[in-house]
Amino acid sequence: MRATNAQYIKADTGVGGGLLVNGRVHSGSHGMAGEIGHLPIALDGPNCLCGNRGCLATYIGPEPPIHAAGLDAVAEAEGAEAAPAELDRRLRADDPDAVAALGAAGHALGAAVLGVSGVTDAGEIILGGYLATWASWLAPGLDERLAGRRAPAPDMQPVITFGVLGGEATLRGAFQTCRDALLDDPTSVPALARSPIPVPSQ
Ligand SMILES: [Zn+2]
Repeated sequence: MRATNAQYIKADTGVGGGLLVNGRVHSGSHGMAGEIGHLPIALDGPNCLCGNRGCLATYIGPEPPIHAAGLDAVAEAEGAEAAPAELDRRLRADDPDAVAALGAAGHALGAAVLGVSGVTDAGEIILGGYLATWASWLAPGLDERLAGRRAPAPDMQPVITFGVLGGEATLRGAFQTCRDALLDDPTSVPALARSPIPVPSQ
């Protein structure tokens, strides 16, 4: 049975996520609850575009692992989509630089999982996008980072799972959220947005 309190963390065009509380999306005061990309995980980490330092997004990109694996030139020459594909190819070929880059990213992800689970007590942490695609290479660093806190309280640790919807996960979630709102209260849709029911001509 899936947890009703869960944190989703994804990396694709950026790092983001969402928080599920008692089976419902919890959006917070500004619609940003669960957006974990700018969770600071290091006091003296890299500068982030948001103005802080050491945000999760500066470690698990996919741009940071691409940079750490020495693939900046691929990204510049062949575009933003070519570099993750090349990183994926090198991971599957056991390239040591690529494997080390994902190992470091796994540690950073583990720090974020510790932080968010400590605050939310989520029963499940779901990793999506590239985090699911590259689960095998993230897992060692992730497990190593989590091992210290698992030991004293194993029953209180969240279950970590990997998403299966790939790049469509965010779009499907948005669609379901809108559909649920519409079914909960059909009158919430402005009259102008409703199509008139066509009357067949006699
Ligand atoms: Zn940031």
